[in-house]
Amino acid sequence: MDLLNTLVDKGLRRELPTRDEALAVLATSDDELLDVVAAAGKVRRHWFGRRVKLNYLVNLKSGLCPEDCSYCSQRLGSKADILKYTWLKPDEASQAAAAGVAGGAKRVCLVASGRGPTDRDVDRVSKTIETIKEQNEGVEVCACLGLLSEGQAERLRAAGADAYNHNLNTSEGTYGEITTTHTYADRVDTVQQAQAAGLSACSGLIAGMGESDEDLVDVVFSLRALDPDSVPVNFLIPFEGTPLAKEWNLTPQRCLRILAMVRFVCPDVEVRIAGGREVHLRTMQPLALHLANSIFLGDYLTSEGQAGKADLEMIADAGFEVEGTDTVTLPEHRAAEGCGSHEGGGCTAPGGPGAAEASVPDARTDLVAVRRRGAGTDLAPNA
Ligand code: SF4
Repeated sequence: MDLLNTLVDKGLRRELPTRDEALAVLATSDDELLDVVAAAGKVRRHWFGRRVKLNYLVNLKSGLCPEDCSYCSQRLGSKADILKYTWLKPDEASQAAAAGVAGGAKRVCLVASGRGPTDRDVDRVSKTIETIKEQNEGVEVCACLGLLSEGQAERLRAAGADAYNHNLNTSEGTYGEITTTHTYADRVDTVQQAQAAGLSACSGLIAGMGESDEDLVDVVFSLRALDPDSVPVNFLIPFEGTPLAKEWNLTPQRCLRILAMVRFVCPDVEVRIAGGREVHLRTMQPLALHLANSIFLGDYLTSEGQAGKADLEMIADAGFEVEGTDTVTLPEHRAAEGCGSHEGGGCTAPGGPGAAEASVPDARTDLVAVRRRGAGTDLAPNA
């Protein structure tokens, strides 16, 4: 297929595909899917070998958010039966982080619900970062605290944060349909503040919210222009009790096409499969490792992932290896520009209709389980 040969050549040269080429990836047929995965897999292996970076989420503060992001189980007015708690103490967060590190996680992502941190919150998170770094040698810490005010990114960097996550989530054109309490421009501004402070930027998207192929290509091209070091790709988990509860738009094949498109557009960036991996890729998860070079270990912010042990077995069975702390994640040209292996998960509870899909899948509420263990509970984490 000429399209795939062109995309591989461009990916190896870090050259931006055209919008039509990116759209054509999303429009491929099921008969062409394995060829698409193989082609994007060449680009993935060129920049990241067979390594898989593991990340571990610690939800520092859960639920009760004043913002109205439609996809989020922690939003204003959410009826989702999630855990709700306020700030974990530094030792509690460090203990939760240690479980992820012991399971093979290289990065801990500290997430808090809310519009953005107060200066007191930044103090609190700074102490937590310092405690985690003291107690877990070599661990990378990414903060995800929402919109940042002036000076806060610098303070987090000074406290030892390696990275900051803030996702664009969807295209600028559809952002207002997803959230009304802040804007797309607010989100871009926070990512740029993080970059200016020397933090490695992590910014990604959520697929499956009813967006078009054009919207998906728009947001991924915007991400390429913003140039984060890592791009988490969430597949919407349609939580009962949120406005998007009925948006079951994704198939495993659609998820693979989306990941392949992201890899072709952002070839040398850490592409991370984030929330919704188990729910939407299901038994196709190992194929997705040929596209993404990073995943979350265990559970998500408010929902359960598969067992951490199953993640590790899947990586080994598929012929990949867990990336160690002594390996720099990013390719040399990227690592040289920043702090090396930086990237994040997201203040997003992690589905669009595809041109190549004949029908929309039925709702599978049996696949969505609320997290009841780990951070904020007395039960052992899943790591
Ligand atoms: S995504 Fe973040 S800001 Fe939006 S409702 Fe959820 S916790 Fe609040």
